[in-house]
Amino acid sequence: MANPKKYSKSKLNKFRKLIQKEIETVHKDMEEIKEGVLESGKASQSYVPDSVYSVHMADAGTDSHEKEKNFQFIVRENSYYQNLISALKRIDNGTYGICKECAEEPKNLCETCPLIPEDRLMAVPIATMCVDCKEKDKMGLL
Ligand SMILES: [Zn+2]
Repeated sequence: MANPKKYSKSKLNKFRKLIQKEIETVHKDMEEIKEGVLESGKASQSYVPDSVYSVHMADAGTDSHEKEKNFQFIVRENSYYQNLISALKRIDNGTYGICKECAEEPKNLCETCPLIPEDRLMAVPIATMCVDCKEKDKMGLL
C-alpha cells in the first residue's frame, strides 16, 4: 500500500469491544437454541398417546420444520461467529477496517479509501469490504 491508512488504537479498541459483545450474544443465542433443541427432543420421547399432548401430533410437521429452522440458524450463527473471530484477528494484526479490494488497488470510491468508513464498521463489524466494493462483489464485477 502506498498510503497505509489505519484506524487509531482507541478506535480499534472500540471495534474490539463491539465484536466481543457480538461474540457473547452469539454464544448466548447458540446456547439457547441448543437447549431448545434438547428440550423438544425430550418432549417427543416422553410423548404419551391420548394425553393432552396428542393435539400436538398434528404439529409433527411443524416440529421438524422447527428443527430445520434451528439447524439453519445454528449454521448461520456459526459462520457469523467465525467471521467475528477473524475480525478480532484482523484487529490484532493491524489489517482491520481496511477494504481488502481497495487495499490492493485503491479505487477511491469512498473518502476514507482504503479504510472502510467507521459507521459501516459500527453497523457491520465483520465487514471486509467497503460498500462500493461489496456492491461490485455482489454483481460479480470483482
Ligand atoms: Zn473498497
